[in-house]
Amino acid sequence: MTDFPDETGLYWQALGGNNIDQISGHCYQYTDIISHNRKLEASTLIVDIGKFDNHQALNVPGSSAAVPDVRELLTEARWNLKAVFLTHSHPDHLNGIVHYLKAGFRLPDLYGGKYTFMILEQLYDEFEVPADCRPQCHIIRDGDKIKIASFVIEVLASSHTCFDSFGLVISTADTTIYHTGDMKIDNSTCFRKPTNIKRLRELSAQIDCVVADFYGIYDDGFAVKESSTYKKLVGLIKKSGREKIFLPVYPTHPEMYLIAFLAALKLRKNVVFFGNPDFYGYLRLIMDYGISFDKMAAGRIKVIYSHDREEIKTLDENYVVIGTYNHVSLAFDADRRNSFGIITAKTFFNPFKGQLNAHNIPFVTVDDYPELQGFGHGFLGDYEYLNSLLNQPVFIPTHCPVFVIDNFRELAAFIGIRLIDNTPCNGELYKISGRECRLLRRQPANWLVVTYQNNLACLTAVPQKATSGVGFLKRTISNRRCRRRFKIYLHARRRAKNNADKKI
Ligand SMILES: [Zn+2]
Repeated sequence: MTDFPDETGLYWQALGGNNIDQISGHCYQYTDIISHNRKLEASTLIVDIGKFDNHQALNVPGSSAAVPDVRELLTEARWNLKAVFLTHSHPDHLNGIVHYLKAGFRLPDLYGGKYTFMILEQLYDEFEVPADCRPQCHIIRDGDKIKIASFVIEVLASSHTCFDSFGLVISTADTTIYHTGDMKIDNSTCFRKPTNIKRLRELSAQIDCVVADFYGIYDDGFAVKESSTYKKLVGLIKKSGREKIFLPVYPTHPEMYLIAFLAALKLRKNVVFFGNPDFYGYLRLIMDYGISFDKMAAGRIKVIYSHDREEIKTLDENYVVIGTYNHVSLAFDADRRNSFGIITAKTFFNPFKGQLNAHNIPFVTVDDYPELQGFGHGFLGDYEYLNSLLNQPVFIPTHCPVFVIDNFRELAAFIGIRLIDNTPCNGELYKISGRECRLLRRQPANWLVVTYQNNLACLTAVPQKATSGVGFLKRTISNRRCRRRFKIYLHARRRAKNNADKKI
C-alpha cells in the first residue's frame, strides 16, 4: 500500500473473503484515524485472518494453504495494529493466524470465544508453534464491551454452526458498524446463545452500516433453523421403522452432533459415536467445552464411542450411528431390513451412499430434505429481518461473490434494502462516515500461498484471479441461476404488493 490516508475518519477494507468469486480466507481491516495534539494518529483492528480454501487453484507447487495479505498491517508501525478479533473458529476465519506465526510474524493480542481458542490451541499443537510466539488471547463473551484506542467494540452472540460465534458492533467517533461474522437469525440454537436480537434492537438507532458476512442471500425465507433439522430427523427416524440408523455428520459442524444426539435421545435410541479422527477430535472438544452426552442420556439411553462388536451388542439392536464415516462397518450387521441412512451433507458422503446402495440399505439425503443440513448462513429473509430491525442501515455484503450482490440490487431496491454503491472487492479501501461509504482506491488483491520448508512457512504472493474460487461456486450457484432466482423473487414480491394495493 503506497498512500496513507491523510484525514481523520474510519477506513475499511476486505483483505480476503470478498471478490468476484473469492469467498473464503476472511479478513477485514478497520483503521480509525483521529487528530491528537494536531497530529493524525491511526489505530487498526483486524477482524478474522482465515485461510483460503482453494489454494491449489493458485498454482504454487507444494502449497498447503493460502492466506490474505496483511503483512503491511503487521509490520508497518504507522497502521498501529492493536488487535485481531476472531468471530468464530472455522478455518476460513481463523487458520491464517497459525501460518503467519509459522512464517515468523508477531501478532498483536487476539480476542475470541473460548471455543475458538480451544481450536486455535489444537492448531498450535499441530503446527508446533512455540509457546513464546503465541499471541496473548482474551476470551470474549456475548455482551462484552471493549475499548481499544479510539474504538469501542461490543460483542454479540451469533447463531452459526459452532460454539462461540460472535458479531461485533464496532464504534468510532464517525460511525457504528455491525460486523455480523457468519450468522443467521435462528433463535433455536442448541447449547449456545442465538443471535442477540434484543441487543441489536436496542442499538438499532446507532448502527449505521452492516458488514453482512454471510452468503445464503440467494435463498428466500429464513435460513434453516436448528429446531427444524431436529424435528425432521426425529420424523425420519420414526418413519423408517428401522432399528439401526446411520447418520453421518460433517466434522466441523458440531451443532449437528448435538441435534442428532437429541433426536436419538427423544426416540430412546442408543448412540454410537463413530468416525474419522477429525470427528473424534471435534467430539472431544465439545466434551471438553462442557457438554456431557452421558449426563444428557441420564441412563435413558446408552452412549458408546467405538464400533467394537462386543460394545455394540449391549445396545439391544437399537441405535443411531452418529459420526463422520464413509463405510458401513461389518460390526453393525446392517442390512436392508434393519437399517436406514440419513445423509446430512451434499457431496461429502457420496462414498457412503455407494456403500448403502451396495448393502441395499434405504436412505434419504439432504437433496430430498434440505432441512437435514445444518446451515449457518442467513438467507434473504435473514437480511430482510436485519434490515427492518436496524432501521435500514447500509449493507456492505461480504463472504459473497460480487455477482450475487450485483444481481440482487434491483430486488434490494424494491424491498428497501440499502446496499453500498460498489460491491466491495478485496483490496479496495473505503472511508465510512455515518451511512456514507466512499471508495477511495482499488488495489489488486494478493493471496499469500503457504508452503512449508523445515517446519517454517514460506509465503509467496500470487495475484488473485477471477477463477481462483471457481471450485466453490460450482458447488453453490452460478451467475445465471442466481440472476434468475432474484428475478423470480422480485416478480413474486411485485405481485404480492399489487394484490395488497388492490385490496386497499
Ligand atoms: Zn463459519
